[in-house]
Amino acid sequence: MTSLVRFAPSPTGLLHVGNARTAMLNALFAKKDGGKFLLRIDDTDRERSKPEYEAAILTDMAWLGITHDLFARQSERSAHYDAAAARLMASGHLYPAYETPEELDRKRKRQIAMKRPPVYDRSSLKLSADDRARLEAEGRKPHWRFRLSHTRVRWHDLLRGEVEIDTANLSDPVLIREDGSYLYTLPSVVDDVALAVTHIIRGEDHVTNTAAQIEIFAALGAAIPAFAHFPLLIGAGGEALSKRLGSLSLASLRDDGVEPLALASYLAKTGTADPVDLKPSLEVLAAEFAFEKIGRAPARFDPAELSTLNAKLLHGLSYDTAAPRLAALGIPGGAAFWEAVKPNLTRFADAVDLWRLVDGPVTPVIEDAGLTQTAAALLPEEPWGEETWPAWTKAVSAAAGVKGRALYHPLRLALTGLEHGPELKKLLPLIGHAKSLSRLNGETA
Ligand code: GLU
Repeated sequence: MTSLVRFAPSPTGLLHVGNARTAMLNALFAKKDGGKFLLRIDDTDRERSKPEYEAAILTDMAWLGITHDLFARQSERSAHYDAAAARLMASGHLYPAYETPEELDRKRKRQIAMKRPPVYDRSSLKLSADDRARLEAEGRKPHWRFRLSHTRVRWHDLLRGEVEIDTANLSDPVLIREDGSYLYTLPSVVDDVALAVTHIIRGEDHVTNTAAQIEIFAALGAAIPAFAHFPLLIGAGGEALSKRLGSLSLASLRDDGVEPLALASYLAKTGTADPVDLKPSLEVLAAEFAFEKIGRAPARFDPAELSTLNAKLLHGLSYDTAAPRLAALGIPGGAAFWEAVKPNLTRFADAVDLWRLVDGPVTPVIEDAGLTQTAAALLPEEPWGEETWPAWTKAVSAAAGVKGRALYHPLRLALTGLEHGPELKKLLPLIGHAKSLSRLNGETA
């Protein structure tokens, strides 16, 4: 049977690296398994779901290189949820509950004060038809809870091994709000059944949900998919990632110059037994994917490790790949420029500043006027190549009687205005005779 995984973000904010990791692990598993990928927009929360967040999700997924084979939007599927809810009501699995949020809160506080777990006491389940009619006459509208079996639910988690949860320790989950809208729990199961999802791969914050959802699958007479719950990605300081953490959104990483394949490699490898390293494609990442490699401790998001992968990617980028991107940045520099500057890039857009070193204007810094004058006088005629720099600096060294840093540092400062930068033997021919001469003479050029 062909496997089907799903990534099911709620369009209530921008995707962050943690969400992206969920998407990535699903995508890699599907690729390796020859399966398909469903992108499901979990937009049952009408107030918080926004079309612009859905659009951002699609942009982010395309940027990451994850394509979907199937697409679904929960807001368009309510007929399926209504049908399932009707079945669960008819079978007695779904019951109306009338407590207000304040009443529930009071109950919870009382239970906590008595050192009891704050589990819903099922008071509403004990109501007679008359009680319910009276409450409804008072203007109360019910919300609907799923009646858990209070047995031990077991599953073989592809990551955690045997898991057992006694649903007697859980509150009967609310599936339908007072206003008739659905919470996440039921639509998710209904869609997983209807679209024939075979593997649910998600963060371990969903382990408890899984126990309740397995009971819902069973109550609907559906086959139970396989589950894999991985430890969450946490912030560098150990904090949970949230959609409100703008800095770790894919959009802001993209703006910061993170390359999608660097991020994909990072997300695929962090928290696993494999070293965090750059890989050439999602196909290679998929071939190396295995649940067994994923560790049980939360993975910490390390921006420095991501930067390292990003730099490695840029340093290995061929001119053919770079050329259209250079053009898009308005950089006319060709292959020689690219080869000269790429080892210095941490972000692709750094090429803009590096192009300015070539094209100017550069305001030279004259550290040793005597030396730069000597150097100006000894500048050879063009044509220049990579051999120009060593030959010229050798002549300058002999004439001025300096070498090492005392020779190179003033020349770099004069030619580029900077302390550090690309290799001068590659840069000098690009700067050319006229601009080199001006800069050595202290003129902006
Ligand atoms: N919309 C849910 C979430 O973002 C999906 C969870 C799931 O994968 O079932 O948490």
